[in-house]
Parts: sequence; C-alpha cells; structure tokens
Amino acid sequence: MIRLAQPQLGDEEIKAVTDVIRSGIIASGPQVRRFEETFAAYVGVRHAIATSNGTVALHAALLAAGVGPGDRVVTTPFTFVATANAILYCGAVPVFSDIDPDTYNLSPHALAETLARLKDAGTPAKAVLLVHLFGLPCDMTSIMAVASEHGAIVIEDCAQAHGAAYNGRRVGTFGTVGTFSFYATKNLTTGEGGMVVTDSDEVAQRVRQLVNHGRIDRYEHALLGYNYRMTDLAAAMGLAQLAKLEQFNLKRRANAVRLSRQLADVPGLVLPVEPQGCYHVYHQYTVRHPERDELARWLRENGIETGVIYPIPLHKQPLYRELGYGDQSLPVAEEVARQVLSLPVHPGLTEQDINTVAETVRAFVSGRLPSA
Ligand SMILES: *Cc1c(COP(=O)(O)O)cnc(C)c1O
Repeated sequence: MIRLAQPQLGDEEIKAVTDVIRSGIIASGPQVRRFEETFAAYVGVRHAIATSNGTVALHAALLAAGVGPGDRVVTTPFTFVATANAILYCGAVPVFSDIDPDTYNLSPHALAETLARLKDAGTPAKAVLLVHLFGLPCDMTSIMAVASEHGAIVIEDCAQAHGAAYNGRRVGTFGTVGTFSFYATKNLTTGEGGMVVTDSDEVAQRVRQLVNHGRIDRYEHALLGYNYRMTDLAAAMGLAQLAKLEQFNLKRRANAVRLSRQLADVPGLVLPVEPQGCYHVYHQYTVRHPERDELARWLRENGIETGVIYPIPLHKQPLYRELGYGDQSLPVAEEVARQVLSLPVHPGLTEQDINTVAETVRAFVSGRLPSA
C-alpha cells in the first residue's frame, strides 16, 4: 500500500529522544527552549512558544491577540475543524467567508465583501484567521490590505505550511500571530505538538502565561491560563525534524512536480497550482475530479491510499449546523468539498511510487474513454 502520510523518523529522532530520557528532564525544559529559539529563527520571528498541539496553539494565539466573547473572527469554511473551534473556545463568533476555487484558500474578494457586510451590520470583524491550506500560502498582499482597510488583525493558521513562503517571507511572519501543528501527519512532527510565533513582545508574553497556568512567578498566577506546555521529549524530536524540514519540503515539491508533469493532460482532472511568488510545501497534493469517489475507490483497489480533505465544509458540519450556520451558502467551498482528493506526496515515497500513483490515476481516466 502506498500510504497518504508517513512520519519520517530516523536515528536522529531516536537518539534525541533517548538522550532526553537519559537526562531525567522529560517535561518542559532545555529542549523546549532550544526548539523555540531554533524554530523562531527558522520562521523569521522574534518569539516562538511551544505548545502541546496545534489546536491549543490557536486558542492561546487568539486569546493573546485579544479575541474575546462576542468578537467576530472571519475564517475559511474549508479547513480542519480545529481552526473554527478555537474561535468558539474564546467565546467569539466564527464568520465563514468563501474560498478561491484555484488555491482553496480564503478569497480576498469574498473576504472584502464579508468584512464590509460585518461593518454594515455594526459588528466589525476583530480578526481574520486565515489558513495556508495544504501548504500553499494565502494571497497575503491582498489579504493584509483588505484586513487593514477594515481594522481587523490577521492571525495565521500555519498548521499545514511549515516553511512555506510568500514573496520570500515565511508564513507566520505576516499576521499579529501565527500557529503551527506538529501532529503525526504534518510536514514536521513531534507526534503531538504546536508552536505560536509572533514578533510582538506583548503577545508573546501573554501566550507564555496562557500556556502555563497564567503563571508570572512559581506559584503566582495573573490570569486564567491552561496547561498547554510541550514536553522535552517532543521538543527533542522537533529539533531533529526541523534540521530535516528543508529536505522534506524539497522532496515533497519534487514529488508534486513529478505528479503534475504526468497528470497534466488528464481530462477532467484539476491539478494544484502554485501562484507567482508562492513557495508551496505540499502538505497535501490535492486534485479535483467530478468522479472523486470512484477515483478514490479505484486507487484504493490498486494499493494507493488517498484522502478526502475535507469532505464537509465547516458551516455544514453537524456542530455548526446546530449553531445556526447550516443555511449559509458558500458555493465554492461546497463544490470543492465534493470534488477534492489528496494523492500521496510525502517525502518517504520513491520516484517509482510517484510514477505508480500517476499511472493508476491515468488508467482510471483512460478506462472511461470510449476509444481506450
Ligand atoms: C492539524 C491542524 C490543526 C490542529 O492541529 P493539532 O496539532 O492536530 O491540534 C489546526 N488547523 C489546521 C489547518 C490543521 O491542519
């Protein structure tokens, strides 16, 4: 079976974690500090604060950026549910804005309309929580301009985009604050883990307090915080992974180029794009096809695992229907959710694996041509 995702762990990670076990310091300690400093330098920000996963990184980031009860936060309906749930954790109100059909990221045009509508309704948006989906940066020039025009801060969910860049700047450096996930399937993994990044000393200090029980001194607590800390075990693995991230991303990109070259002329198949100025890190290589479910079944029967990421836009999820979002129409997200299919692209795949994926996709389509 050619798997859709596979953590790339080797002797370096084993040694790093073993050294931590031998050191006797297994909770948050020197490895977490080192991982934070190295990750901040890699992204190009002043501060990075490690967390126990990407979801709580989002929660702490939103709180630290000042998102509170009743605040409107505009986000994408085409993302993992954690993105919008983090807004709910703050008592704030997610407002979904439709996506671009080519990039699957927030559409700047739709965003401008959504922000204008909120302003007219007397409930201007506090923040835009964008997602660099599948490893492709959002159109940051347009989004930063539109958000600033409407007085909304920008928060970046970079959970799928470690090392992705826009006009030479890494994602996570554009907004007030950004977050990463190190879940097992992500481009860089610590099993579970996350990171908050920011250039603001004030936001960084608030995040540090929020992730550690609101602590200002050993047993002095200034605010209602949480235990969202990372362990040294995870941080040691993260440091070993970070040293390999560039190679991982280059391999993902090479795999994506190989797939796109072989799939370019397949009728009915829409391939991922990399707009000018974007450095895509292909967390997912996502295609669209009108017979998506049949294609997925064909690939599975032929030993290739795929993923429908995501089958249900957030406003149509049972939880969000229950909250009253179900009647909203976001046609692009809804159409895309019916057609997307993610093909294997991870760095553990060989050239032969990639050729097999491409050939099997081609065989599905040619089997359906009358002359084939
Ligand atoms: C993975 C992911 C998260 C959540 O991260 P966890 O570490 O799994 O909690 C949030 N947003 C997006 C877009 C993700 O892909």
